[in-house]
Amino acid sequence: MQQYISQLNEAQREPVLQKDGPMIIIAGAGSGKTRVLTIRIAYLMHQGIDAFNILSLTFTNKAAREMKNRISDIVGSSEAKNLWMGTFHSIFARILRSEADKLGYPSNFTIYDSQDSLRAISGIIKEMQLDRDVYKPKQILSRISTFKNSLITVKAYFNDPDLQEADAMSKKPRMGEIYQNYVDRCFKSGAMDFDDLLLKTNELLTRFPEVLAKYQNRFRYILVDEYQDTNHSQYLIVRALSDKFQNICVVGDDAQSIYAFRGANINNILNFQKDYQGVKTFRLEQNYRSSRNIVEAANTIIDKNKTKLDKVVWTANEFGPKIKVHRSLTDAEEGRFVASTIFEQKMQNQMTNGQFAILYRTNAQSRAMEDALRKRDIPYRIYGGLSFYQRKEIKDVLCYLRLVINPKDEEALMRVINYPARGIGDTTVEKLTVAANHYKRSIFEVMQNIDRIDLKLNSGTKQKLNDFVTMIQSFQVINENQDAFYITDHVSKKTGLVQELKKDATPEGMAKIQNIEELLNGIKDFTEGQREIDGARGSLAEFMEDVALATDLDKDTSDEDRVALMTIHLAKGLEFPHVFVVGMEEDLFPSAMSMSTRSELEEERRLFYVALTRAEHQAYLTYAQSRYRWGKLTDSEPSRFIEEIDGQFLEYLTPAESNYRFKPMIDKDVFGDVDKSKLRLAKPLSTTPPKYITDNQPKPEAQIRKLKPVSANAPSGAANLFDNKLTAGNIVMHERFGRGQVINLEGVGADKKAEIKFEVGGIKKLLLRFAKLDII
Ligand code: ATP
Ligand code: MG
Repeated sequence: MQQYISQLNEAQREPVLQKDGPMIIIAGAGSGKTRVLTIRIAYLMHQGIDAFNILSLTFTNKAAREMKNRISDIVGSSEAKNLWMGTFHSIFARILRSEADKLGYPSNFTIYDSQDSLRAISGIIKEMQLDRDVYKPKQILSRISTFKNSLITVKAYFNDPDLQEADAMSKKPRMGEIYQNYVDRCFKSGAMDFDDLLLKTNELLTRFPEVLAKYQNRFRYILVDEYQDTNHSQYLIVRALSDKFQNICVVGDDAQSIYAFRGANINNILNFQKDYQGVKTFRLEQNYRSSRNIVEAANTIIDKNKTKLDKVVWTANEFGPKIKVHRSLTDAEEGRFVASTIFEQKMQNQMTNGQFAILYRTNAQSRAMEDALRKRDIPYRIYGGLSFYQRKEIKDVLCYLRLVINPKDEEALMRVINYPARGIGDTTVEKLTVAANHYKRSIFEVMQNIDRIDLKLNSGTKQKLNDFVTMIQSFQVINENQDAFYITDHVSKKTGLVQELKKDATPEGMAKIQNIEELLNGIKDFTEGQREIDGARGSLAEFMEDVALATDLDKDTSDEDRVALMTIHLAKGLEFPHVFVVGMEEDLFPSAMSMSTRSELEEERRLFYVALTRAEHQAYLTYAQSRYRWGKLTDSEPSRFIEEIDGQFLEYLTPAESNYRFKPMIDKDVFGDVDKSKLRLAKPLSTTPPKYITDNQPKPEAQIRKLKPVSANAPSGAANLFDNKLTAGNIVMHERFGRGQVINLEGVGADKKAEIKFEVGGIKKLLLRFAKLDII
C-alpha cells in the first residue's frame, strides 16, 4: 500500500490520508482526481474499512470496472469484489430491485431505454388524439425528464400553476395529462425509465426512514467522481445517504461541468462547503496528463469564463509540440486531413490506432471522418450514436427476453406480439389495450384470461393469443434453470426470429443474422465470465440488467486497436496521446443553439476545455470553410475558441487569413506543397476488406489475428472460435479480462480450455470455443 501512496504527490496524498469527514477535491483536468479517488478507496480498505461499507459513484460503468481492477491489484480481488461501484443508475437500480415492493413495483421491473419511452409517449399522444406536430414526442419526453430530475412528480406538477402556465403558453396545455398517463403506463408495465431510477430512489429514501437508515449505515464512506455533473436528483440521494456519517468525498472540476442541458447543476460543487459542516477542501494543481503547451493553452481558454472557481493548473511535463490548427475547404477535405495525419503519424512514429481520438460536437459530424478513415484503411470505432442493443433485430430479441422476465412489460409486448407475423392484427391489439385499461391489468394478463373475457374475437385469434402466452410461459420455465445464453439461443429460434431473418438474402439481411450471432457471443462471454468470477449461473436477469444500464462507453468491449471517434461529452475523464478536435466552426462549436446567453456560451467553452485537455501530447484543431449541414452546403467561419487561445501555443498548418473564401486556393495539408493526387496514387491499392466497424455495419469477418473456427459443430453464434495455433506462453488479449499469458491448455476440440494468467484478475480457465481471444 505504501508503495502506491508514495507514488502520489504531496497534494494528492493529503486527501488519501484524510480518512473521515466531508471533503471536496477541486482540481483541473488531468491532475489525478480519479487516481486519488482510487487510491483512497484502497487505503480505506487497507485501514480495515469493509468493502461492503464503501460506495463509489462514477461517470461510466467502464470507469468503475477500471477502478475496481486497480483496487484489486492493491488489496486483492476477493476484497475488492464487494465494493459497490458504478454509475448512479446502476447502483440505484440494484437498490431499487431489492426494495421494489415498497414502491409497489415488482423486483423484476424492466428498465426502459429512451426508445421504449418514446414509443410509450407516441402511443399516449395517439390515444389522446393530440397533434404530433405540436406534441412532439421527443420534446415531451425531454420535458418529462426535466420534471423527474427536478423531482417534480405528477402531483407536484398539478400543484404548480407556473409550470402549467408555461406549458399552456407553449401550446401544450395537456402536458400534465400526458405526464400522468406516461407514469401510469410505466407503472402498469412494471417499468422504470432512466430518470425513474433516481426519482424512485429519492422517493424510497424520503418515504421510508428505515430504508434510509439501512443504507446510511451500510454506506459509511461515499465517494463521487465527476461531481460537477450531478443533477439535483443525484445530489439529493448523495446528501441523504451521507447525512449520518458525513464521510463523503467528492471530486470534480467546475471547469468541466458540461451537462447543464441534462439538468446537471454546477452549484452542487460550488455549494458543497455550505452543505456539510467542517468540509476539508483540497486542491490539486499539477497536471500529469498533458504537455505544458496543452495545459497552458487550456488555461487561457478557461480564463475567459467569468463563472469559475480560481484554480491553478501547471505541469512539469515537457513543453511538447504546439497545437496544430488546420483549415480545409470542405468537411470531406477535413476528414482527409485527419486520416492522412493519422496515417503519417503511425508510419513515422510507430503509433497505434488506439492512440488517436477524434472528438466532435455532434454525432452527425462522424460521417465525413468515417469516409476518410475507411479510404485509408484505418480501423476506427464510433462510441455513442445508435447502440448495438438498439438495432432493430437485436432489440426484437431483447424484447422477447424482457417478456420472459417481466410479461407485463407493455412496450416489449407491443413490439413482438406480431413479429414475426403470427396473425395478431392491429384491431386485436387495440381490443386488448382497451380491455387492459378497463380492467387496470397488463395486456399479458388480459391475454392469459382471453377465454373468459368477451372481446368479440374469433376462435382462431383466441388460439393465436393463447399460443403466444404459452410460448412465453414455456420460456419462463426454461429460464428458471438455464443460463442467459441457453435461453437466448432458444428464444431466437423458437420465436421464428432467426427464420424470419433468413428469408432476407440481401447483405443487410445477412448482417442482421450476424448481429444476432454477435449478441449470442456476447452473452456466452457474459455467462462464462459470471461463472468464472462469481461461480454464478449468469442468469438472463443479470444479463438484461447489464444491457439496460450499459452506457455508451461501456460497449467498448473490444480490444482491437482502433481510432476512437466520439462526442466531446462522452470523452470526459478519458485521455489519448493525440486528439483531433474537428469542426471548430462558429455555429457548430460553439453550437448555434448555445450562444444566446453567457452561461450557455460558457458551457460550450468548458466543453472545449474538456476536449483539449484529453490530449497528452498533440492536439489538432481543424475546421472547414464549408460543410454539409442538414443536407445543405453551408459556409462557415472558424470558431471563436481558436482565437481565444494565446497564439504562442498554436501552429497554423494553413494560413489563417479569413478572406480566403474569395480567392482560388491551393489547399495545403500535412503534405505541404506536394501534389497530393500523386501521393494517393502511390499508396498500393488494397484488396482486403476495410477493417472498420460502425454501429450500423457488421464486423468484417477476417480480423488479422482473429482466431479461426476449428470445430464444425460449434453452436451457432460462436464466431470467434479457436484454432490450434494457441500454445502455452502466448500473450493474449481478452475482451473482458485484458492482457494475459497462456499457462496451460487442456481438453480437445470443442472442450478445449486455456488456463490464462491475466495481468488483472489472476488466473482463469476459459473455454476456447467461446473465449474471444487475440494472440498479441
Ligand atoms: P479529468 O479531470 O480529466 O477526469 P483527473 O483529474 O481525474 O482528470 P486522472 O485521470 O486521475 O486525472 O490522471 C490523469 C493522468 O495522470 C493519468 O494518466 C494518471 O495516471 C496520471 N497521474 C496522476 N497522478 C499522477 C502522479 N502522482 N504521478 C504520475 N502520474 C500521475
Ligand atoms: Mg477523472
